[in-house]
Amino acid sequence: MKKGNIWVVNETSEGSLSLITKETMSKAKELSEDLDKELVSIEIGFNNDEMARESGYYGADKVIQVEDELLEHYNTLGFAKVLETLMDKYDPAIIMLPASHNGRDLAGRISAKKGVGLVADCSSVELAEDKKDIKWIRPSFDGKLFCDVRILSEIMMATIGRGAFVEATRDESKKIEIIKEEVKLKEEDIATKFIGFEKSDINPLLDKLMNSKIVVSGGLGLGGPENWHLVEELADALGGAVGATKAATDLGWCDKDLQVGVTGVQVKPDLYIALGISGAIQHTKGMDNSATIIAINKDPDAAIFNVASYGIVDDLFNIVPDLIKEIKNR
Ligand code: FAD
Repeated sequence: MKKGNIWVVNETSEGSLSLITKETMSKAKELSEDLDKELVSIEIGFNNDEMARESGYYGADKVIQVEDELLEHYNTLGFAKVLETLMDKYDPAIIMLPASHNGRDLAGRISAKKGVGLVADCSSVELAEDKKDIKWIRPSFDGKLFCDVRILSEIMMATIGRGAFVEATRDESKKIEIIKEEVKLKEEDIATKFIGFEKSDINPLLDKLMNSKIVVSGGLGLGGPENWHLVEELADALGGAVGATKAATDLGWCDKDLQVGVTGVQVKPDLYIALGISGAIQHTKGMDNSATIIAINKDPDAAIFNVASYGIVDDLFNIVPDLIKEIKNR
């Protein structure tokens, strides 16, 4: 593997590093330790001193900061010009970006322009057995297959999918080196004009599912829509959110947006309770980063028990109604 550092290109969301950037950062930090390389954050923006410091708190050894009014909002040409200039000067070994709209856009452009191998939407990143290469793992065929992709170009680039890793922990005591770089930009370099940003309405149930520390999900083991209230009542009793398998949402037992999995949302709450869920890989890839997983399934061989921290082999109807009563009485 070539000499050079590992870079993470930051993305901000509402005045803070985005969650997916923090997740990318935690994996990049681990790689930097395994490969004995420095972790460098690339902070491109405007009025972004605070963001540069933040990247240090989340694990970067160094931050390269570029600030320009023309970079206040993400724009392909401006950000690409800055990143290319920095690459020419510092020659990194690995560049990782969040697999967000902007990260995908920037990575694709840089890859094509600089002839750098890119693996998009990685769900896992592992060192190869000889520790000389990296296995960039990405889902394929809607999550039915996971491909181990190797990059043959000198510089490697990857975008990292949301929820693939646990977010980096914040440590404000960390000493950070911030290098301010200037890249000359003209308005003609940008070729687009930012008009405004409109937030789309998000389904409140989906918002709750994505942000709750407790998620109770139901699958076909519930037997029918008439029993779905058990999932909702248990979630309510625990102050958590409701999730579901694709099979349950396809049958209309609950809101379609509540599907957890590779083609739904990826969650990683402190506690995930799976009721009557078989544990198909397309589902577990959306929840197996949860801190604690409790599964209730009457089939002792159900695959969900392979990812569960605690498993109860029983008919859920023997357990869940009493569990709800017990929790409500406390
Ligand atoms: P089942 O597999 O039918 O499992 C029901 C489970 O309930 C069984 O294990 C059974 O033992 C148990 N059970 C039955 N009765 C009881 C009872 N009374 N008490 C306790 N346990 C009981 N799925 C997702 O969830 N998310 C995705 O994002 C997703 N994406 C997909 C993408 C593609 C391209 C494909 C092909 C599939 C995808 N799927 C996804 C579907 C996935 O493969 C499974 O079919 C689905 O997750 C199964 O849902 P389930 O566990 O509810 O149902």
